[in-house]
Amino acid sequence: MKISQYIYLGFIFILLLFSATTFINFKLSEAVIENTTFVSRSTEITKTANRFQRNILTMVDGLHSYLLTGEKLFILSYEEANKENDDILRSLSTLVDQQSRQGKLLQEIKQLNDQWTDEYTEPLKQAKTLAIVSPRHLEDFNRVYRNRRFTGDEERIQRQLKAKFREFTTIEYSLRDMHRVKLADSTRLTRELSLIMNVASILVALLVIRFIIKKISRRIERMNYMARMITEGNYDVRVGEPEADELEPLRNSLNHMAEALSDSFTLLRKSNQELDQYAHVVSHDLKGPLRGIKNIVTWIEEDHHHSLTPEVNNYLQLIKERVHWGESLIEGLLSYSRLDRDQTSKELVDVNELVKEVLDILTPPPNFTLKLDPLPQLYTERILLQQVFLNLVSNGIKYNRSERIEIQIYAQEQETAFQFFVADNGIGIEPQYFDRIFSIFQTLGELEHEKSTGVGLAIVKKILDNKKQVYQVLSEPGKGSVFSFTWPKS
Ligand code: ADP
Repeated sequence: MKISQYIYLGFIFILLLFSATTFINFKLSEAVIENTTFVSRSTEITKTANRFQRNILTMVDGLHSYLLTGEKLFILSYEEANKENDDILRSLSTLVDQQSRQGKLLQEIKQLNDQWTDEYTEPLKQAKTLAIVSPRHLEDFNRVYRNRRFTGDEERIQRQLKAKFREFTTIEYSLRDMHRVKLADSTRLTRELSLIMNVASILVALLVIRFIIKKISRRIERMNYMARMITEGNYDVRVGEPEADELEPLRNSLNHMAEALSDSFTLLRKSNQELDQYAHVVSHDLKGPLRGIKNIVTWIEEDHHHSLTPEVNNYLQLIKERVHWGESLIEGLLSYSRLDRDQTSKELVDVNELVKEVLDILTPPPNFTLKLDPLPQLYTERILLQQVFLNLVSNGIKYNRSERIEIQIYAQEQETAFQFFVADNGIGIEPQYFDRIFSIFQTLGELEHEKSTGVGLAIVKKILDNKKQVYQVLSEPGKGSVFSFTWPKS
């Protein structure tokens, strides 16, 4: 799957989580609103119910005062309260379910209220009003008053009304408590769920980001590793595991590049090997004719030494020197081409000892002195390091016209390698030849010098190049030379 698709998927997943959070919050807020509405409606119901009971007291008070005093003002407050109670009963019946216990109670309350007003309060009020208008109705009023007031039925209706209302408000209070608990529960649930969903969304977002970063960086790390391997000369490395993402074309290109490099270097290595083989074979073949010339010159000298003039002797000497020089050139070429052929194993090498061995091989002249600073011990290919020192020290002695030939060898430690220095007080080199002297068969006008073949520094260069080490020469004609090179610690 493509990385962009992972990003889209992650994004959609997080969006879904947020949508779910919003939906749950919405649903929970609906429940909260429902409960809040119920609580406020319930408060209204209980308030109205209490008002109804207060109105009954007002009606009782107003009627009694009217019956006692005949003041119209009292009957007005009675009538107002009576009318309000009718309205209250109507509005309460719209607020409660008619089929519920509260609905039934309301109907009973209405019946009791109607019974009270129809049978007691209204007849008394009318009788009193008639008695005020004409005193002949006073006897009627007194009769009605006695009939109504002293039977005890009115108290019974009042008690029943009170009991019904108590039951009605008790039910309302318990319903309200129940909804209050529900409201508290749903508020808590809303808070908890919101928190959980938000934390989950953030966690999922972090996980998605981590996954994508890990996926990309893993692939890039592999390609980086491959590039590193290629720079270190390992062209066979490939970035495996094809994946259908945006980095796939880059992976393919890198693999193709590595393949192309590998093919080219295999070809190059092969042609180098063939060239070395060719040099090896040619050197061997050339040795034969040279040996033949040397033998012929020796035979002439041995068999005809009486008849040879000094001039011919001189020529024969020159032939021998040139043959010797030719042999040195062939030997140099052979050792140069052998470098890749020889398998060298590693061992612990004390470089101080190694330099002393080099001097033993070279057998320097008596006017030679060596200044040797303490050199390190290395686990390395002894033969190769010996070849490098052998060529540098022998050059320092060879290309030196000082009365006292002095060579100093010292080393500086670096992070992964040692840098070695071979300094001489020889004839020095013009800076323009610093590169040329490292090419094979390149000499600087010492062709006459019987020991100069131009192979020594080419061997040094080949060894150091193979080991991917660096080398340098600092020199001035007449002021000696300092050759330096690095050598890995292990
Ligand atoms: P050879 O093996 O014949 O000595 P090299 O390849 O070692 O040849 O050196 C190439 C040339 O570099 C030499 O002919 C010489 O002119 C010059 N050269 C090398 N080393 C030194 C040195 N220490 N001082 C002066 N010249 C040098």
